[in-house]
Amino acid sequence: MAVTQKARDLQAAGRDVLTLSMGELDFETPAPVKEAAIAAIAAGETRYTAVDGTPALKAAITEKYRRDHDFLLSPEEIVATTGGKFLIYAALRATLEPGDEVIIPSPYWVSYPGIVRMCGAVPVILATQAGQGFLPDPQTLKATMTPKTRWILLNFPNNPSGATLPLEHAAALAEVIEAHPRALVLSDDIYELIRFDASPPGPLFAKMKGMRERTLTVNGVSKSHAMTGWRLGFGAGPAPLMAAIRRVAGQTTSNPCSISQAAAVAALGMEPSFLTDWRTALRTRRDLVVRTLNRIEGISCLSPSGAFYVFPDINGVVKRKGLADDTAFCTALLDEEALALVPGSAFGAPGFVRLSFAAADSVLEEAMGRLKRFCA
Ligand code: PLP
Repeated sequence: MAVTQKARDLQAAGRDVLTLSMGELDFETPAPVKEAAIAAIAAGETRYTAVDGTPALKAAITEKYRRDHDFLLSPEEIVATTGGKFLIYAALRATLEPGDEVIIPSPYWVSYPGIVRMCGAVPVILATQAGQGFLPDPQTLKATMTPKTRWILLNFPNNPSGATLPLEHAAALAEVIEAHPRALVLSDDIYELIRFDASPPGPLFAKMKGMRERTLTVNGVSKSHAMTGWRLGFGAGPAPLMAAIRRVAGQTTSNPCSISQAAAVAALGMEPSFLTDWRTALRTRRDLVVRTLNRIEGISCLSPSGAFYVFPDINGVVKRKGLADDTAFCTALLDEEALALVPGSAFGAPGFVRLSFAAADSVLEEAMGRLKRFCA
């Protein structure tokens, strides 16, 4: 957000800035979703609702998990919130004691360590390697867990790396976690439907052996339905945890926006064919960007299997241009070529940058031209 703000400032000063730093799709929110919101306003659905979501939204969430994962949920196991981010905050706020440890594989979504620290707990970073597809190594996880470990934050498809979690790998992680009865798993599935490696949905961590009673599954419509501004997230987990989350929400945000809830009911009920079109467009853009990046001397980039980011290693260019680090790379790129990317150090992975390919083909082509020129 800080990079994007700087880009906006440059734009306001008259520069032709290309912004590939934002975490949102460039597609429009689907028309049936907008229509459902307008109908909800017309029908007077403009008042407080139940803190954790309307019965209609909870039914739609239940149906999603039954349909997509053959996973049955009761209403006490579901909470809808003002965005997925608030659900993560509420869950950690409800459970962390000062000094508790939260294991966060890096690269990680920027908000995780900040939220953990806001709750008085300690983020413990578990580094992953590009050479291992940015997947957390089960043996390293085992060595990192202590009696103080309260949560492990897993996010697949991952922001920023785009890695997805193969079923066997998830099972190996679950086996390690099972040995620590106090540890909970936050499975951040917000990019669940943006996957290129197999048809959706991905594996559900809560279905792993021994994991249902200790897994909070985080999801929402922000990324899947191009609804970042509507602020609607939801989660599923064991009833006592969800009751605690409900209490945090009840004393802070109250219910998520009533109109957004009606819109989310429509979103979750939509035929998934629009997603197939989006995925096809995103795959083409991904391939263009990865191909171009790998042709630039000093850059190497894995092809992500999910989400809409690439996370190339730019160390070679940093060294060749005599720059201090990835932040200096991004600052110079913004100043010289008016192209906004996010430095990898924001995600706990210095030497990398994150580039969102959720932008029009013409924008991506122009951006790749500017990047090539900058790196030359
Ligand atoms: N989790 C991850 C990994 C994300 O990238 C984001 C948004 O960028 C979120 C959660 C939160 O999404 P929202 O609060 O818009 O539902």
